[in-house]
Amino acid sequence: NLSDRITASLKGLRGHGRLSEADVDKTIREIRRALLDADVAVPVVRDFTGRVRERALGEEVSKALNPAQQVVKIVNDELVDVLGGATGELTWAKNPPTVIMLAGLQGAGKTTLAGKLAKWMKDQGHTPMLVAADLQRPNAVNQLQIVGERAGVPVFAPEPGNGVGDPVQVALNGVSTAQFQQHDVVIVDTAGRLGVDEEMMQQARDIRDAVHPDDTLFVVDAMIGQDAARVAEAFRDGVGFTGVVLSKLDGDARGGAALSITGVTQRPILFASTGEQLGDFERFHPDRMAGRILDMGDVLTLIEQAERTFDQAEAEKTAKKLQSGQDLTLDDFLGLMQQVKKMGSLKKMLGMMPNMGQFRDQLDSFDDSQLGRIEAIIHSMTPAERSDPKLINGSRRSRIAKGSGSTVQQVNQLLENFKNAQQAMRSMGRGGGGGMPGMPGM
Ligand code: GDP
Ligand code: MG
Repeated sequence: NLSDRITASLKGLRGHGRLSEADVDKTIREIRRALLDADVAVPVVRDFTGRVRERALGEEVSKALNPAQQVVKIVNDELVDVLGGATGELTWAKNPPTVIMLAGLQGAGKTTLAGKLAKWMKDQGHTPMLVAADLQRPNAVNQLQIVGERAGVPVFAPEPGNGVGDPVQVALNGVSTAQFQQHDVVIVDTAGRLGVDEEMMQQARDIRDAVHPDDTLFVVDAMIGQDAARVAEAFRDGVGFTGVVLSKLDGDARGGAALSITGVTQRPILFASTGEQLGDFERFHPDRMAGRILDMGDVLTLIEQAERTFDQAEAEKTAKKLQSGQDLTLDDFLGLMQQVKKMGSLKKMLGMMPNMGQFRDQLDSFDDSQLGRIEAIIHSMTPAERSDPKLINGSRRSRIAKGSGSTVQQVNQLLENFKNAQQAMRSMGRGGGGGMPGMPGM
């Protein structure tokens, strides 16, 4: 699979030192082959490998990373980029209901997705309604009704026994009914065909023009491989869509279709469908998908490396102290800040990791110039003040401010941060240590 292939292609780069052009080209060739084998569209592969090559050759080799890690990082960054960068969002209408139209081939997973999306929204306090505008297949309306029932969401369907209805009219009536009944979201399920077909596109366009969707989601089976780019282009040109839902991601095919579709259409993948049950549904996170494609093993070694930089002895000393119930002093605080600085590139590395979101905000608010100020202020304190900050009254504050070239306000801010860190450490100490000792309250 794609992740194994890419990882294998990086094995040859184990040594240290600068990346040679020959090394880079050999690796790029392997990555190209792996992507093509995973059915990624040719133009996307070409763009992707071109950018990775350029960066791999152009970038200074970081001292902290070996060449393989360096390339992993570049490939990861570029994967995230092709996959759309940040996690995509739905467009909410200023005047409800928000209208979401689903489009895609027959069997892509639209009807299933309609139920999943409705349930997901309902769980967040929305009041979605489903509209059965697929009148192509005899059973389609009934299928949506079953899905709606499972999700606990009402379904607008044409009256049975009225002959072949008009899907455009059904869609329109559905949206106005939803508006009248004050649903805040309407999800319009539409008909697909087994292949790209002009009549289907025309019908989807007519529905689109009738209901003016806030988002049109192109639902596509992640298993269709080679065809993904072509089908996505056909829907982009035939109906137009604002976002993609990748279905059947529970299967083997991972990443290939995702890369092709986002690479070719530049539209974000908003959701992933991962099974036949209503709950098999998640938001799509480009960084996690990149991680899956790359198999985070190598990136994890980056983290290990950063952790080694973190001074183990220093950390243990602090941990012991806290466990013994002693309070954090300003000296400890400074030591911790310096550890964070030593880990410098950790911020970037954490940025590459899935599930690290909770640390990202903390890290973003911390920069090196801030650390310099903290050092200056603490160094302007006497040892007595550092171990017992309560001593630091008004006149001491202005002395410390003068001595460190700061304002009294900045001294106050630091003392405030310190107090928070002390409190956080107290509760961590009670919890038996652990956590990340390098990030007290910043
Ligand atoms: P539609 O024709 O686009 O409306 O597609 P359906 O929603 O009817 O789905 C077609 C088939 O794919 C059904 O048998 C679904 O149960 C199945 N299906 C849909 N989404 C997924 C998924 O994410 N994973 C798996 N394994 N099957 C899915
Ligand atoms: Mg359907």
